[in-house]
Amino acid sequence: MVQLNENYLKLPGSYLFSTIGKKVAAYSAAHPDAKVIRLGIGDVTQPLVPAIISALHEAVEEMGHAETFHGYAPDLGYAFLRETIAEKDYQARGCEISADEIFISDGAKSDCGNIQEIFSADARIAVCDPVYPVYVDSNVMAGRTGEYDEKTQTWSNVIYMPCTAENGFVPQLPEKTPDLIYLCVPNNPTGTALTREQLAVWVDYANSVGAVILYDAAYEAYIAQEDVPHSIYEIPGARTCAIEFRSFSKNAGFTGVRLGFTVVPKDLKRGGAAAHSLWARRHGTKFNGAPYIVQKAAMVVYSEEGKAQLKEQVAYYMRNAKVIYDGLGEAGYEVYGGINAPYIWLRVPEGMTSWDFFDYLLQKAHVVGTPGSGFGPSGEGYFRLTAFGNYENTVEAIERIKNL
Ligand code: PLP
Repeated sequence: MVQLNENYLKLPGSYLFSTIGKKVAAYSAAHPDAKVIRLGIGDVTQPLVPAIISALHEAVEEMGHAETFHGYAPDLGYAFLRETIAEKDYQARGCEISADEIFISDGAKSDCGNIQEIFSADARIAVCDPVYPVYVDSNVMAGRTGEYDEKTQTWSNVIYMPCTAENGFVPQLPEKTPDLIYLCVPNNPTGTALTREQLAVWVDYANSVGAVILYDAAYEAYIAQEDVPHSIYEIPGARTCAIEFRSFSKNAGFTGVRLGFTVVPKDLKRGGAAAHSLWARRHGTKFNGAPYIVQKAAMVVYSEEGKAQLKEQVAYYMRNAKVIYDGLGEAGYEVYGGINAPYIWLRVPEGMTSWDFFDYLLQKAHVVGTPGSGFGPSGEGYFRLTAFGNYENTVEAIERIKNL
């Protein structure tokens, strides 16, 4: 009899956001009059900008005529988009990345979760703690775990690199040498980022020990500070040790439209094999191309009109970030993030756990956030609020918290 993949049984029972969803649903059912404001899940709320809507309409129209109809897209993405990304996102910043090193996909989550397939089964991974849960979970599914420690809720083959207020949310080089290093910059959930200088330490380290950095830059569009790089390829040496993930979800509101891309430089080789060839093979085998309509709409991100409209959209969310950051600061909370990312990370009051604070905010202010412990053991004692709500709700949520 066939057995199921038991590695899946090692995963925590339910995904963080479904636990939150259930708690909020139960609370709302018991308190139907409570106007609950959700600043929990990192999903956007503003509609697609007009330039994207008109590009979508045009592409849909093309699909309605035999001469301009498009069937399967090329597995790795349309050349028009790959070339534009290479030029505008990379070459314009002085990064040596070519169009054939860009792989278009349906979003960064799939790629972050799937990339581990091209590495050996015994690869040891290192993750920032706290961090986006997909990195650890996808490796647990693949069996890269070792022993589980109930007390710390960690796996022995996963190196957790604490990022807390005490170290300025900057991961320290680990004692045990990892094979794969996941870095998420700007970071979800802490909302903090690494400077060029701080990132260069990691690039040099990865090259010196032969590790590969898996660099998730899904929030790149929110970077405001000059010394924070927009791509890891701004750092010399990154072509031989780094893979970068990007998403159109947060820079263009594509969470429901779906598009992203991954950059795999041809210079990234291990044991004589090129990661680029393996990822091309994997992508071509298991992915049938992102929709033409969506890739056409993504081109708007690089047009003058689109850039102006999207800049306003990012500014809208970052105004929320400021409302949250300043408001919580005035209320006496210790707050972080919110400058290069749409997330605010706050320390929960003494004596409370992250989940205690979740319940407290839900019950007393009808505001939903995300408990820090859901992002890793070092997230305990912290709490995440997102700037992706609408402005009026964000202002009201912060007023309610201030009045507690
Ligand atoms: N990476 C990080 C760090 C994220 O926070 C998210 C979404 O919340 C993703 C990737 C997923 O992006 P996408 O919508 O492109 O799948």
